[in-house]
Amino acid sequence: MTIREMQDEILRLKKEKDVCILAHTYQSDDILEIADFTGDSFGLSVKAQSVPQENVLMCGVRFMAETVKLLSPQKHVYLSNDAADCPLADQADRDFVLALREQFPDYCFVVYINSTAETKAVCDVCVTSSSAVKIVKNIENPNIYFLPDCNLGAFVKQQVPEKNIELMHGGCPTHLRVTPADVKAAKAAHPGAPVLVHPECRPSVTALADYIGSTTGIIDRAKQGDEKEFIIGTENSVRNHLQLACPDKRFYPLSKDCVCHNMQLTTLADVYHMLRFGKPELEMSPELIEKAVRPVNEMLRLGE
Ligand code: SF4
Repeated sequence: MTIREMQDEILRLKKEKDVCILAHTYQSDDILEIADFTGDSFGLSVKAQSVPQENVLMCGVRFMAETVKLLSPQKHVYLSNDAADCPLADQADRDFVLALREQFPDYCFVVYINSTAETKAVCDVCVTSSSAVKIVKNIENPNIYFLPDCNLGAFVKQQVPEKNIELMHGGCPTHLRVTPADVKAAKAAHPGAPVLVHPECRPSVTALADYIGSTTGIIDRAKQGDEKEFIIGTENSVRNHLQLACPDKRFYPLSKDCVCHNMQLTTLADVYHMLRFGKPELEMSPELIEKAVRPVNEMLRLGE
């Protein structure tokens, strides 16, 4: 089967089986092309709430499928590749957070959306990379414990100096691979091209950047910017998507190592297999859903 034939078969099957396909921006182009919606993980979860299909297939990593289920508990949710986990999300488990809560009893526990449902269930407020600064500013408690990503946490801490923020020392292995030397080399190779980076990069990297924002923020900045060349400091698939979307501009990866192997586990063939043969749907108990959705709802309330 060619890629085109497999895509056509996927489009036929998803209609026949009443499936909405969501694809995170870090997926490959052949998957983005057959998706009903593409974007960041929380945006996709919100979209899934209003689709008519009863079945939702997430092409991304496990916490993203979990977030879809939290917001649409009545839908059947599937993950395209069962092995696709997020190493950042796995750095803070429930027991670890409960032990921290004993150590920091008066703190508001703020958890990045890139976390498991079990971890969310024992935290107070969720944030996304684009909403983190605003949400933390709006929390009443002056004492914040931010987890699991210390780089996003450090970015928030810098933007919200009035809060007392403790950081868990976790991090995204993909964005941690980018170094200040990469920024200097990319700037020297492409003088005048703005450096756009994700806040999951180290502070020593973000300090040298021209723009710091979520993946969606980076894409918007690159598409709307008047410049003709850009250096992209997030997962390298974003650079590829931008090059296709804006062929008259040039996009350079900040580091050839900025690749999320977990995101790249999912292939078009996985999507095909899932639709053709079916696989177990994501199971979450009603109790877990009820507890884990609370910090997400609190994020929505504080973000209004
Ligand atoms: S890029 Fe980082 S945070 Fe995103 S899925 Fe990969 S490891 Fe997790």
